[in-house]
Amino acid sequence: MYNDPPSLCLRIKSSMTMQTLNGSCHCGRVQFEVTVPKEVVVQECNCSICSRSGYLHLIVPKSRFKLLQGEDNLTTYTFDTHEAKHMFCKTCGIKSFYIPRSNPDGYSVNLRCLDQDRFDKVTVELFDGKNWEQNAHTLQHLSDDDA
Ligand SMILES: [Zn+2]
Repeated sequence: MYNDPPSLCLRIKSSMTMQTLNGSCHCGRVQFEVTVPKEVVVQECNCSICSRSGYLHLIVPKSRFKLLQGEDNLTTYTFDTHEAKHMFCKTCGIKSFYIPRSNPDGYSVNLRCLDQDRFDKVTVELFDGKNWEQNAHTLQHLSDDDA
């Protein structure tokens, strides 16, 4: 009954295998590390700020994120409800991670600021952030520690 075909087992294994990656802004003043699975689902959001920057959201629990340097080089921008903390580098302007409104207990890392060759599989999912109130609940589990 539980004899999954080998290919499926391998796939599940790969999706669960964790790796620690380094990320940075463009100029390198902001450096961080994040522990993520080798297979990930990321969100492309159509809200006013994400669509302008082309941000790809990889939402992780706080415990899997570590800022290594550059805290003093970050500026925080907020708007509307001011719940999301958009932190970008003062020098190069790149937002490599931030605290999202959907998961204020976690971080959203910009997949584009990581080495994408290190992933076995990246699935981009569209998130309708223009209608945030109706859709935010679909993201809430992503900052759970056992997610
Ligand atoms: Zn920078």
